[in-house]
Amino acid sequence: MVINVTKSFLPPFEEYQNKIKGIWENTWLTNNGPLVRELEDKLKDYLGVKNLLYVTNGTIALQIAIKALDLKGEIITTPFSYCATTTSILWENVKPVFVDIEADTYNIDANLIEQAITDKTSAILATHVYGRPCDVEKIEKIAQKHNLKVIYDGAHCFGATYHGKSVLSFGDIATCSFHATKVFHTIEGGCIICKDDELLTKLAHYRSFGHKNDDYFMIGINAKNSEFHAAMGLCNLPRVADIIEKRKIISERYDSLLDWSKLKQPKQDIEGFEYNYAYYPVMLSSEQKLLEVTEALKKEHILPRRYFYPSLNQLPYLGFYNPCPVSEEMSVAALSLPLYYDLDLKDVEKISRIVNATL
Ligand SMILES: *Cc1c(COP(=O)(O)O)cnc(C)c1O
Repeated sequence: MVINVTKSFLPPFEEYQNKIKGIWENTWLTNNGPLVRELEDKLKDYLGVKNLLYVTNGTIALQIAIKALDLKGEIITTPFSYCATTTSILWENVKPVFVDIEADTYNIDANLIEQAITDKTSAILATHVYGRPCDVEKIEKIAQKHNLKVIYDGAHCFGATYHGKSVLSFGDIATCSFHATKVFHTIEGGCIICKDDELLTKLAHYRSFGHKNDDYFMIGINAKNSEFHAAMGLCNLPRVADIIEKRKIISERYDSLLDWSKLKQPKQDIEGFEYNYAYYPVMLSSEQKLLEVTEALKKEHILPRRYFYPSLNQLPYLGFYNPCPVSEEMSVAALSLPLYYDLDLKDVEKISRIVNATL
Protein backbone atom coordinates (compact mmCIF):
# COMPACT_ATOMS: atom_id res chain seq x y z
CA MET A 1 0.00 0.00 0.00
CA VAL A 2 1.16 3.48 -0.88
CA ILE A 3 1.52 6.11 1.84
CA ASN A 4 0.93 9.51 0.31
CA VAL A 5 1.91 12.84 1.79
CA THR A 6 -1.76 13.32 2.56
CA LYS A 7 -5.06 11.49 2.46
CA SER A 8 -8.45 13.16 2.32
CA PHE A 9 -10.71 12.77 5.32
CA LEU A 10 -14.12 11.30 4.52
CA PRO A 11 -17.10 11.32 6.90
CA PRO A 12 -19.22 8.13 7.25
CA PHE A 13 -20.98 7.52 3.92
CA GLU A 14 -24.49 7.39 5.48
CA GLU A 15 -23.97 10.75 7.09
CA TYR A 16 -23.14 12.40 3.78
CA GLN A 17 -26.06 10.60 2.18
CA ASN A 18 -28.42 12.00 4.84
CA LYS A 19 -26.99 15.48 4.40
CA ILE A 20 -27.73 15.50 0.66
CA LYS A 21 -31.19 13.90 0.91
CA GLY A 22 -32.89 17.29 1.07
CA ILE A 23 -31.44 18.14 -2.34
CA TRP A 24 -33.74 15.49 -3.85
CA GLU A 25 -36.68 17.11 -2.09
CA ASN A 26 -36.09 20.76 -2.95
CA THR A 27 -34.10 20.27 -6.21
CA TRP A 28 -31.86 23.15 -5.11
CA LEU A 29 -28.42 22.09 -6.34
CA THR A 30 -26.49 25.34 -6.42
CA ASN A 31 -26.83 29.17 -6.39
CA ASN A 32 -26.69 30.10 -2.72
CA GLY A 33 -28.78 27.17 -1.52
CA PRO A 34 -29.68 26.31 2.09
CA LEU A 35 -26.63 24.07 2.68
CA VAL A 36 -24.24 26.75 1.37
CA ARG A 37 -25.81 29.32 3.68
CA GLU A 38 -25.75 26.94 6.64
CA LEU A 39 -22.08 26.22 6.01
CA GLU A 40 -21.26 29.93 5.76
CA ASP A 41 -23.00 30.59 9.11
CA LYS A 42 -21.22 27.70 10.81
CA LEU A 43 -17.85 28.74 9.37
CA LYS A 44 -18.34 32.30 10.64
CA ASP A 45 -19.11 30.90 14.10
CA TYR A 46 -16.19 28.49 14.06
CA LEU A 47 -13.67 31.08 12.85
CA GLY A 48 -15.13 33.99 14.81
CA VAL A 49 -15.36 36.27 11.76
CA LYS A 50 -18.15 38.60 10.69
CA ASN A 51 -18.03 38.38 6.89
CA LEU A 52 -17.35 35.23 4.92
CA LEU A 53 -18.24 33.97 1.45
CA TYR A 54 -18.01 30.32 0.43
CA VAL A 55 -16.52 29.96 -3.06
CA THR A 56 -15.43 27.27 -5.53
CA ASN A 57 -11.75 27.20 -4.55
CA GLY A 58 -8.93 29.03 -2.86
CA THR A 59 -7.45 30.30 -6.12
CA ILE A 60 -10.53 32.12 -7.35
CA ALA A 61 -10.85 33.52 -3.81
CA LEU A 62 -7.47 35.24 -4.34
CA GLN A 63 -8.40 36.44 -7.82
CA ILE A 64 -11.68 37.96 -6.67
CA ALA A 65 -9.91 39.55 -3.70
CA ILE A 66 -7.43 41.32 -6.00
CA LYS A 67 -10.25 42.36 -8.33
CA ALA A 68 -12.57 43.65 -5.62
CA LEU A 69 -9.83 45.74 -3.99
CA ASP A 70 -9.14 47.18 -7.45
CA LEU A 71 -5.42 46.49 -7.16
CA LYS A 72 -3.17 47.74 -9.93
CA GLY A 73 0.53 48.18 -10.64
CA GLU A 74 2.58 46.04 -8.27
CA ILE A 75 1.76 43.71 -5.39
CA ILE A 76 4.44 42.79 -2.90
CA THR A 77 4.31 39.06 -2.31
CA THR A 78 6.12 36.04 -0.97
CA PRO A 79 8.22 33.67 -3.10
CA PHE A 80 7.62 30.78 -0.68
CA SER A 81 4.08 29.57 -1.33
CA TYR A 82 2.04 27.55 -3.77
CA CYS A 83 2.04 28.86 -7.37
CA ALA A 84 -1.59 30.04 -7.03
CA THR A 85 -0.42 32.92 -4.81
CA THR A 86 1.65 34.30 -7.70
CA THR A 87 -0.54 33.28 -10.63
CA SER A 88 -3.61 34.96 -9.12
CA ILE A 89 -1.65 38.25 -9.21
CA LEU A 90 -0.49 37.67 -12.80
CA TRP A 91 -4.02 36.64 -13.81
CA GLU A 92 -5.24 40.10 -12.78
CA ASN A 93 -2.46 41.74 -14.84
CA VAL A 94 -0.63 43.00 -11.80
CA LYS A 95 3.12 42.61 -11.31
CA PRO A 96 4.25 40.47 -8.38
CA VAL A 97 7.25 41.92 -6.54
CA PHE A 98 8.94 39.21 -4.49
CA VAL A 99 10.27 39.97 -1.03
CA ASP A 100 12.41 37.30 0.60
CA ILE A 101 11.32 35.23 3.61
CA GLU A 102 12.47 34.77 7.21
CA ALA A 103 14.81 31.80 7.70
CA ASP A 104 12.86 30.49 10.71
CA THR A 105 9.14 30.91 9.94
CA TYR A 106 9.44 30.84 6.10
CA ASN A 107 6.95 33.72 6.01
CA ILE A 108 7.59 36.97 4.14
CA ASP A 109 10.24 39.03 5.96
CA ALA A 110 8.31 42.11 7.06
CA ASN A 111 11.59 43.97 7.61
CA LEU A 112 12.31 43.83 3.86
CA ILE A 113 8.89 45.02 2.68
CA GLU A 114 9.38 48.80 2.90
CA GLN A 115 12.43 48.86 0.65
CA ALA A 116 10.40 47.10 -2.07
CA ILE A 117 7.59 49.66 -2.06
CA THR A 118 7.44 51.94 -5.13
CA ASP A 119 4.85 54.47 -6.30
CA LYS A 120 3.17 51.60 -8.17
CA THR A 121 2.69 49.34 -5.12
CA SER A 122 -0.97 48.78 -4.30
CA ALA A 123 -0.94 45.88 -1.84
CA ILE A 124 0.86 43.17 0.08
CA LEU A 125 -0.23 39.58 -0.57
CA ALA A 126 1.45 37.15 1.80
CA THR A 127 0.94 33.53 2.74
CA HIS A 128 0.73 32.27 6.31
CA VAL A 129 3.13 29.44 5.47
CA TYR A 130 2.21 25.99 6.86
CA GLY A 131 -0.46 27.81 8.92
CA ARG A 132 2.02 29.95 10.89
CA PRO A 133 1.00 33.61 11.03
CA CYS A 134 3.03 36.27 9.21
CA ASP A 135 4.17 39.23 11.28
CA VAL A 136 0.64 40.62 11.02
CA GLU A 137 1.28 43.54 13.38
CA LYS A 138 4.30 44.86 11.46
CA ILE A 139 2.65 44.31 8.08
CA GLU A 140 -0.45 46.19 9.26
CA LYS A 141 1.71 49.17 10.32
CA ILE A 142 3.53 49.26 6.98
CA ALA A 143 0.25 49.02 5.08
CA GLN A 144 -1.25 51.92 7.02
CA LYS A 145 1.82 54.10 6.61
CA HIS A 146 1.95 53.57 2.83
CA ASN A 147 -1.79 53.24 2.22
CA LEU A 148 -1.61 49.66 0.96
CA LYS A 149 -4.16 46.87 1.11
CA VAL A 150 -3.29 43.57 2.75
CA ILE A 151 -4.44 40.17 1.51
CA TYR A 152 -3.43 36.97 3.28
CA ASP A 153 -3.41 33.65 1.49
CA GLY A 154 -4.59 31.60 4.46
CA ALA A 155 -4.95 28.31 2.56
CA HIS A 156 -3.11 26.49 5.38
CA CYS A 157 -4.67 28.24 8.35
CA PHE A 158 -8.00 26.60 9.03
CA GLY A 159 -8.17 25.88 12.77
CA ALA A 160 -4.92 27.72 13.60
CA THR A 161 -5.18 30.61 16.05
CA TYR A 162 -3.03 33.58 17.03
CA HIS A 163 -3.68 35.19 20.43
CA GLY A 164 -7.05 33.44 20.54
CA LYS A 165 -8.19 34.64 17.10
CA SER A 166 -8.29 32.65 13.89
CA VAL A 167 -5.17 33.29 11.79
CA LEU A 168 -7.72 34.00 9.04
CA SER A 169 -9.00 37.10 10.82
CA PHE A 170 -6.10 39.39 9.79
CA GLY A 171 -5.74 41.63 6.73
CA ASP A 172 -8.29 43.50 4.62
CA ILE A 173 -9.04 40.14 3.05
CA ALA A 174 -8.00 36.61 3.99
CA THR A 175 -8.65 33.63 1.77
CA CYS A 176 -8.73 29.94 2.57
CA SER A 177 -8.77 26.76 0.52
CA PHE A 178 -11.06 23.85 1.31
CA HIS A 179 -9.44 21.57 -1.25
CA ALA A 180 -9.56 17.82 -0.53
CA THR A 181 -5.93 17.87 0.68
CA LYS A 182 -6.41 20.54 3.36
CA VAL A 183 -7.10 20.11 7.09
CA PHE A 184 -10.76 21.04 6.55
CA HIS A 185 -12.16 20.33 3.09
CA THR A 186 -15.33 20.44 1.03
CA ILE A 187 -13.85 18.37 -1.85
CA GLU A 188 -13.17 21.58 -3.79
CA GLY A 189 -13.90 24.89 -2.16
CA GLY A 190 -12.61 27.92 -0.37
CA CYS A 191 -13.67 31.12 1.30
CA ILE A 192 -13.06 34.84 1.36
CA ILE A 193 -13.08 36.67 4.66
CA CYS A 194 -13.17 40.47 4.90
CA LYS A 195 -13.80 43.13 7.52
CA ASP A 196 -15.62 45.74 5.46
CA ASP A 197 -19.35 45.22 4.79
CA GLU A 198 -19.37 47.10 1.49
CA LEU A 199 -16.45 45.03 0.28
CA LEU A 200 -18.41 41.89 1.17
CA THR A 201 -21.29 43.00 -1.07
CA LYS A 202 -18.88 43.68 -3.92
CA LEU A 203 -17.21 40.29 -3.46
CA ALA A 204 -20.62 38.60 -3.46
CA HIS A 205 -21.44 40.26 -6.79
CA TYR A 206 -18.14 39.14 -8.26
CA ARG A 207 -18.92 35.62 -7.10
CA SER A 208 -22.16 35.56 -9.05
CA PHE A 209 -21.56 37.02 -12.55
CA GLY A 210 -21.89 40.61 -11.37
CA HIS A 211 -25.62 40.69 -11.36
CA LYS A 212 -28.40 41.10 -8.89
CA ASN A 213 -31.69 39.57 -9.96
CA ASP A 214 -32.07 40.85 -13.54
CA ASP A 215 -29.79 43.81 -13.10
CA TYR A 216 -26.48 43.13 -14.90
CA PHE A 217 -24.53 46.11 -13.60
CA MET A 218 -20.92 44.93 -13.35
CA ILE A 219 -18.50 42.34 -14.73
CA GLY A 220 -18.29 39.28 -12.52
CA ILE A 221 -17.21 35.70 -12.65
CA ASN A 222 -18.75 32.45 -11.45
CA ALA A 223 -17.24 31.46 -8.10
CA LYS A 224 -20.33 29.91 -6.51
CA ASN A 225 -20.06 26.53 -4.89
CA SER A 226 -22.67 23.77 -4.86
CA GLU A 227 -24.94 22.17 -2.26
CA PHE A 228 -23.04 18.88 -2.62
CA HIS A 229 -19.76 20.55 -1.70
CA ALA A 230 -21.35 22.42 1.18
CA ALA A 231 -22.82 19.13 2.45
CA MET A 232 -19.32 17.64 2.65
CA GLY A 233 -18.21 20.70 4.60
CA LEU A 234 -21.12 20.36 7.02
CA CYS A 235 -20.16 16.72 7.67
CA ASN A 236 -16.47 17.53 8.14
CA LEU A 237 -16.68 20.72 10.20
CA PRO A 238 -17.77 19.08 13.50
CA ARG A 239 -14.80 16.72 13.14
CA VAL A 240 -12.09 19.35 12.68
CA ALA A 241 -11.10 19.37 16.36
CA ASP A 242 -10.70 15.60 16.32
CA ILE A 243 -8.78 15.69 13.00
CA ILE A 244 -6.39 18.31 14.38
CA GLU A 245 -5.90 16.30 17.58
CA LYS A 246 -4.97 13.19 15.58
CA ARG A 247 -2.56 15.17 13.42
CA LYS A 248 -1.02 16.60 16.59
CA ILE A 249 -0.32 13.13 18.00
CA ILE A 250 1.31 12.06 14.72
CA SER A 251 3.37 15.26 14.50
CA GLU A 252 4.60 14.86 18.07
CA ARG A 253 5.65 11.30 17.27
CA TYR A 254 7.75 12.59 14.34
CA ASP A 255 9.16 15.28 16.67
CA SER A 256 10.35 12.64 19.09
CA LEU A 257 11.77 10.25 16.47
CA LEU A 258 13.53 12.36 13.84
CA ASP A 259 17.22 13.19 14.10
CA TRP A 260 17.22 16.95 14.69
CA SER A 261 20.97 17.21 14.57
CA LYS A 262 20.68 16.91 10.79
CA LEU A 263 17.21 18.31 10.09
CA LYS A 264 15.48 21.61 10.68
CA GLN A 265 11.88 22.45 11.32
CA PRO A 266 10.01 25.77 11.10
CA LYS A 267 10.06 27.87 14.25
CA GLN A 268 7.93 26.11 16.87
CA ASP A 269 7.46 28.70 19.58
CA ILE A 270 5.58 31.65 18.13
CA GLU A 271 4.04 33.48 21.07
CA GLY A 272 0.24 33.20 21.15
CA PHE A 273 0.13 30.74 18.25
CA GLU A 274 -1.82 27.47 18.28
CA TYR A 275 -0.97 25.23 15.34
CA ASN A 276 -3.47 23.20 13.29
CA TYR A 277 -0.85 20.59 12.29
CA ALA A 278 -1.58 21.23 8.64
CA TYR A 279 1.80 19.95 7.41
CA TYR A 280 4.90 18.21 8.63
CA PRO A 281 7.71 19.99 6.80
CA VAL A 282 11.37 19.24 7.44
CA MET A 283 14.38 21.05 5.99
CA LEU A 284 17.20 18.84 4.74
CA SER A 285 20.82 19.98 4.69
CA SER A 286 20.88 20.10 0.86
CA GLU A 287 18.82 19.34 -2.23
CA GLN A 288 21.01 16.27 -2.78
CA LYS A 289 19.99 14.96 0.67
CA LEU A 290 16.37 15.73 -0.07
CA LEU A 291 16.51 13.66 -3.26
CA GLU A 292 18.20 10.78 -1.44
CA VAL A 293 15.60 10.77 1.34
CA THR A 294 12.79 10.96 -1.24
CA GLU A 295 14.28 8.02 -3.15
CA ALA A 296 14.73 5.91 0.01
CA LEU A 297 11.09 6.54 1.02
CA LYS A 298 9.83 5.85 -2.49
CA LYS A 299 11.41 2.39 -2.41
CA GLU A 300 9.07 1.66 0.52
CA HIS A 301 6.08 3.17 -1.35
CA ILE A 302 6.12 6.30 0.81
CA LEU A 303 5.62 9.52 -1.13
CA PRO A 304 6.58 12.76 0.58
CA ARG A 305 6.12 16.02 -1.30
CA ARG A 306 8.35 18.97 -2.08
CA TYR A 307 6.32 21.80 -0.70
CA PHE A 308 7.02 24.54 -1.71
CA TYR A 309 9.11 24.05 -4.79
CA PRO A 310 10.19 25.94 -6.84
CA SER A 311 10.68 29.28 -5.16
CA LEU A 312 8.04 31.38 -6.95
CA ASN A 313 10.47 34.15 -7.95
CA GLN A 314 12.02 31.50 -10.24
CA LEU A 315 8.81 30.58 -12.07
CA PRO A 316 9.71 30.25 -15.76
CA TYR A 317 6.90 32.46 -17.09
CA LEU A 318 7.63 35.60 -15.06
CA GLY A 319 9.99 37.28 -17.51
CA PHE A 320 12.00 38.95 -14.72
CA TYR A 321 14.01 37.85 -11.72
CA ASN A 322 13.93 39.25 -8.15
CA PRO A 323 16.65 37.40 -6.21
CA CYS A 324 15.33 35.83 -2.97
CA PRO A 325 18.28 33.84 -1.60
CA VAL A 326 16.58 32.55 1.56
CA SER A 327 13.48 31.32 -0.25
CA GLU A 328 15.58 29.76 -3.01
CA GLU A 329 17.64 27.91 -0.42
CA MET A 330 14.60 26.75 1.57
CA SER A 331 12.59 25.62 -1.43
CA VAL A 332 15.24 23.12 -2.52
CA ALA A 333 15.53 21.74 1.05
CA ALA A 334 11.87 21.59 2.16
CA LEU A 335 10.13 18.24 2.23
CA SER A 336 6.68 17.55 3.67
CA LEU A 337 6.40 14.13 5.28
CA PRO A 338 3.12 12.16 5.24
CA LEU A 339 0.58 13.51 7.72
CA TYR A 340 -3.11 12.68 7.86
CA TYR A 341 -5.72 11.85 10.49
CA ASP A 342 -5.42 8.04 10.37
CA LEU A 343 -1.75 7.64 9.51
CA ASP A 344 -0.58 4.69 11.62
CA LEU A 345 2.03 5.51 14.27
CA LYS A 346 3.90 2.39 13.14
CA ASP A 347 4.24 4.01 9.73
CA VAL A 348 5.47 7.21 11.37
CA GLU A 349 8.16 5.10 13.05
CA LYS A 350 9.06 3.47 9.75
CA ILE A 351 9.22 6.80 7.90
CA SER A 352 11.35 8.34 10.66
CA ARG A 353 13.70 5.35 10.60
CA ILE A 354 14.20 5.60 6.83
CA VAL A 355 14.73 9.38 6.99
CA ASN A 356 17.24 9.14 9.84
CA ALA A 357 19.15 6.34 8.12
CA THR A 358 19.52 8.42 4.97
CA LEU A 359 20.65 11.70 6.60
C1 LIG B 1 -3.97 24.90 -1.73
C2 LIG B 1 -3.41 26.27 -1.86
C3 LIG B 1 -3.99 27.23 -2.73
C4 LIG B 1 -5.03 26.88 -3.76
O1 LIG B 1 -6.23 26.50 -3.26
P1 LIG B 1 -7.26 25.71 -4.22
O2 LIG B 1 -8.47 25.59 -3.37
O3 LIG B 1 -6.64 24.41 -4.56
O4 LIG B 1 -7.48 26.57 -5.42
C5 LIG B 1 -3.50 28.53 -2.70
N1 LIG B 1 -2.48 28.87 -1.89
C6 LIG B 1 -1.88 27.99 -1.08
C7 LIG B 1 -0.78 28.45 -0.19
C8 LIG B 1 -2.31 26.65 -1.06
O5 LIG B 1 -1.69 25.76 -0.27
